[in-house]
Amino acid sequence: MAQVTRREFLKISGAGLAASSLTALGFMPAIAVAEVRQFKLARATETRNTCPYCSVACGVLMYSLGDRAKNAKASVFHIEGDPDHPVNRGTLCPKGASLVDFIHSDSRLLYPEYRAPNSNEWKRIPWDEALDRIAKLIKVDRDANFVAKSADGRTVNRWLTTGMLAASASSNETGYLTHKVVRSLGALAFDNQARV
Ligand code: SF4
Repeated sequence: MAQVTRREFLKISGAGLAASSLTALGFMPAIAVAEVRQFKLARATETRNTCPYCSVACGVLMYSLGDRAKNAKASVFHIEGDPDHPVNRGTLCPKGASLVDFIHSDSRLLYPEYRAPNSNEWKRIPWDEALDRIAKLIKVDRDANFVAKSADGRTVNRWLTTGMLAASASSNETGYLTHKVVRSLGALAFDNQARV
């Protein structure tokens, strides 16, 4: 299909041809093509999120079908850069642009799994069990390794043997609370996957 600019399109229209005729002849300005694409997304649910891949933390718009009615299963079918996001202004690198495949990947981890010592098998466990186990292991390690005073007697209240990595899609509020909880335990090794 021949591409013409908007200005050229209007010039040709002014010469006496109706826009519909031009479209039928294969002349469509880029803006008209873009409108068809927007129409396809009009019935979708739009969700804002952050690309999980790297610390640039580009904003993404995720489009899913399914009207959230009972028995209607929503499914993400298109992802693009968020034009209102201050980091990327609508752009995405190739990794971010392929996020929809990551979402539907067969190997995507969707629930907690546990591999026992000396075993080569991962076993699915309930979230409650996973969170209880994490909490118990945190307590055991902190009790054993928390340092209240340094060798020269200064109060340091630090815990260096466990670290925390927060997710890129956390909101500012979640990030703030996560930071407070982790620091209140005395942990120094703490980072967020994205710089949000
Ligand atoms: S789109 Fe690319 S640059 Fe942006 S956060 Fe994702 S991986 Fe990083």
